[in-house]
Amino acid sequence: MSHRIYNFSAGPAVLPESVLEEAAQGVREINGSGMSILEVSHRGKDYEAIHADAETRLLRVLGLDPTEYAALFMQGGASQQFAQVPQNFLKPGQVADYVVSGDWGAKALGEAKFYGDPREAASSKADKYSHIPKDFTASAGSRYVHITTNNTIEGTEYFVLPDVGETPLVADMSSDYLALKRDYGKFALAYGGAQKNVGPAGVTLVVARKSFLATANADIPKIYSYNTFLENRSLFNTPPTFAVYVVGLTLKWVEAQGGLGAVEAVNRHKAALLYNTLDLLTPFYQPTVTDKSDRSLMNVTWRLADESLEPELLAASKKAGMDGLKGHRSVGGFRASIYNAFPEAGVRALADLLRDFANRKG
Ligand SMILES: *Cc1c(COP(=O)(O)O)cnc(C)c1O
Repeated sequence: MSHRIYNFSAGPAVLPESVLEEAAQGVREINGSGMSILEVSHRGKDYEAIHADAETRLLRVLGLDPTEYAALFMQGGASQQFAQVPQNFLKPGQVADYVVSGDWGAKALGEAKFYGDPREAASSKADKYSHIPKDFTASAGSRYVHITTNNTIEGTEYFVLPDVGETPLVADMSSDYLALKRDYGKFALAYGGAQKNVGPAGVTLVVARKSFLATANADIPKIYSYNTFLENRSLFNTPPTFAVYVVGLTLKWVEAQGGLGAVEAVNRHKAALLYNTLDLLTPFYQPTVTDKSDRSLMNVTWRLADESLEPELLAASKKAGMDGLKGHRSVGGFRASIYNAFPEAGVRALADLLRDFANRKG
């Protein structure tokens, strides 16, 4: 592979080199068919095999039983799911609970207001989303509880899922899809854009309990109905074929690493390297997540006590061959996104840079 920099982008983001190599080969020719993956019909046998393999693998990697769960390949990103979840599961007057642990969760709640009576069940906004809000009780008759498993902008993550009793749990997993082992069977429906940790932009991965989908509203346009995707195995219309292909390659890579348990161990190690460095150099650096047990394995966020030095640190990172460290425009500071494929050497390089900068300026 040609020259690679350390890409800390929050998404689209770094993918395994072996996946990129194989995808490049597939763009040239797929399965000796004399056609590129970009050229084959979504109804042809080459794509059919890729599609079926990705469905099976996604459920297997997440530890979900294919008789109970379906894997769906949709489009429109998590942003479309913000609308689609309530469109499918809420009717006027019906209640759903939203735990607002970050900006994305707030957006999800906002979209639900078009369809029913969503409630903000808990929020950490008053604390600038510096921790996961843990205490809440689902409203009586709630159709579902919606959470954001990893807060990409703020750098917090759920490690213990909330106890929602019998109420279906729905999750936006965009930025920690395939990042750690969980009991995914606790989710009635979990969605995420592939572009953070699993593949290119263009496909939205949804896993859903079939019995939950059976309760969905039927009086909505077909293209927005989860059941249309379930009944047609995500081939109702043309799926994002290339994106599904690359997701399949990434799933193979995850399995080759030893599955989610092995991937999580590496992710924990990488994140600890960075958090330990920041903690040792506090107060020069100010990690923004106050509750250490909520710190994201994927997105590490911090500020400088002296904010006037931030442009200089950013410039130093560019010089050191790093990109994508500027914090989200809504919060400023720094964010290192260290998804599954981000190399440990890059995390070490950043830790060295942080130490060196603090020594020179602190
Ligand atoms: C990136 C992100 C989104 C938005 O995703 P799109 O695919 O761009 O719509 C939503 N939620 C979370 C947690 C994200 O990280």
